[in-house]
Amino acid sequence: MKKKVDLHIHSVYSDSDLTPQEIFLCAKKMNLSAIAITDHDTIESFPQAYQLSKEFNIEFIPGIEISCEYKGEEVHILGYFIDGDNKTLQNALKDVKELRKNRLIKMAKRANQIGLRVDVDELLEKVKNKIATRLHLALYLLETNQVNSLQEAFQRFLSPKSPLYIAGFKFSVKEAITLIKEAEGVASLAHPHFLSSPEELIKKFCDWGLDALEVVYPRFTPSMVEYFIQLATKYRLLATGGSDSHGSFKEFTHIGTLEVPYLWVENLKNARERYIIYKKNI
Ligand SMILES: [Zn+2]
Ligand SMILES: [Zn+2]
Repeated sequence: MKKKVDLHIHSVYSDSDLTPQEIFLCAKKMNLSAIAITDHDTIESFPQAYQLSKEFNIEFIPGIEISCEYKGEEVHILGYFIDGDNKTLQNALKDVKELRKNRLIKMAKRANQIGLRVDVDELLEKVKNKIATRLHLALYLLETNQVNSLQEAFQRFLSPKSPLYIAGFKFSVKEAITLIKEAEGVASLAHPHFLSSPEELIKKFCDWGLDALEVVYPRFTPSMVEYFIQLATKYRLLATGGSDSHGSFKEFTHIGTLEVPYLWVENLKNARERYIIYKKNI
């Protein structure tokens, strides 16, 4: 039987409702050999995930999805096999956490100005010690019956160009790739189909050390997969793929439902080894 993996999964540490435990349970059910948890701008699932990896006998790939910006466009860079103890990475993520929290408070204040009711303390109670995302405000609005669905919260209030939206702090793409490499990780461009001109940007990001491209993603047609595999080959990038599961917050996607072979994980590992040897020799 071919070994299958899922390299793009969010947890309760960013904006999914699945705990690491639930993620591993699901991965077991789906017979996955390896999973990467790739939370937005945080690696706080790692200690638990390493432990669960042993219990479930499923390989855990320490990952992240860093929000960045390139010429006004939102870009997400995935990092794999990153060293969670790396101080530069830890410090950068600590700063982002604070900035994201302040952004959420500003959005809550704006909500009150336009006639919604948001108690900032109650909202922050939801975030607890985790990374603050727009989802927290959307959930608050839903639970206080100010919207009928999360989708409505995003559409009416929280998406770019809507009244409460404030652009969050973002790394540049170059900074994100550098940060991932600093932590001895491998960098992959997430969901390239969302970008305005994928090939142009891929070419640019390669100059900064991009290693891989996400070529398998929910709702990709076979021709899309083929197109992105072709681009990956053209620019000598490795392939990654995954469900981008956000638990029940994104209903169309589920852990382990896409065809992502274990071979891709081996390729990432080899690339990482080569890079570490190369770094030692310069
Ligand atoms: Zn993303
Ligand atoms: Zn994601």
